[in-house]
Amino acid sequence: MTHAIRTTGLLRSRDLFVHDGTKLRRIRLSASVQTVFLIAAALMLAWSAFAAAHFIGGDKAGVAAGDTTQMQQLAVATEQRARLIEQRQKLLATMLAGGDVDPSALPEISETASLPAAIAAPLARAETKLAAEEAAAAERLEQRYRTATRELKKLGLSPKRLAVGGPFEPATKSDPTFKALFNSWKKLDSLQDGVIAVPSDKPVKTAEFTSSFGVRNDPFGRGAAMHAGIDLAGPHGTPIYATADGTVTDAGFNSGGYGNLIKLDHGRGIETRYGHLAAFSVRAGDRVKRGQLIGRMGSTGRSTGSHLHYEVRIDGRAVNPIPFMRSTDYLASIKSRNGHSMDQIALGGPSRGKR
Ligand SMILES: [Zn+2]
Repeated sequence: MTHAIRTTGLLRSRDLFVHDGTKLRRIRLSASVQTVFLIAAALMLAWSAFAAAHFIGGDKAGVAAGDTTQMQQLAVATEQRARLIEQRQKLLATMLAGGDVDPSALPEISETASLPAAIAAPLARAETKLAAEEAAAAERLEQRYRTATRELKKLGLSPKRLAVGGPFEPATKSDPTFKALFNSWKKLDSLQDGVIAVPSDKPVKTAEFTSSFGVRNDPFGRGAAMHAGIDLAGPHGTPIYATADGTVTDAGFNSGGYGNLIKLDHGRGIETRYGHLAAFSVRAGDRVKRGQLIGRMGSTGRSTGSHLHYEVRIDGRAVNPIPFMRSTDYLASIKSRNGHSMDQIALGGPSRGKR
């Protein structure tokens, strides 16, 4: 059995970690267990080789040589299949952690020689368990996708507007369970990329909500007028932050009433505006990140006191920014991989706002 013992060098103990999004489970495939199965298989092979030699009348040396080759083939096949399980495991863990998965990393179905039942059984058990975890993870990702799209639709944003690219169809011959999981992940991932453009952060950390979106009495006494944004009052110089990733399209004085105005283009037809500023921290053409300081609160333009006039526009049309700011919780959940900490919005609705 010396050749069987030698093959232990080819085998490594493996801890296969399966994370289903709620708990981490460990499947241990020890080298010793793998070796025991190999020895058992070797005995079976040796027996069949012996029997063949005995009944057919071949020479003993030939049998021994064939035995060693078969042992090595078995060890290699075992190694390949275990490696494939590990590969799927790692990708599953990466996906659930919200990391990036390279499509080329998609494991292909291995074309290894069929293994004797004694070796195949523990591997098959690990594969079955893994497939179940993958299916559960895919369902969880689908659930998150459905929740996110439902909430985005409430904001007037179609998933089509935000998602980039269609579902991924891998060219590789991969495991169907894993392929389904990968497609669910890819779908959510492309939506996540688009959600970067959704202005869901707060433009001011703490502020007093002084005027809501919609028709109101003009503060300059000119009767009912449409208010295209919300007003957030605070001390002169209060920091103003970008509410989503984007590009500064305008940072200058606006004679139409906005005063010192910053316009951010977030792509996908989404724009935010920050008016009445005292100072600018960015210039036209700058790329900004969500939460980045862009300016200081002031009272320039058509303003009665230090406040920020904040607007969200979709395809040029002003929409109520409040639902966007309230979307932080579920959007944060699908954006978790970006590491943004977005605390609950402290702003009240129109009923709590002073007119
Ligand atoms: Zn305003």
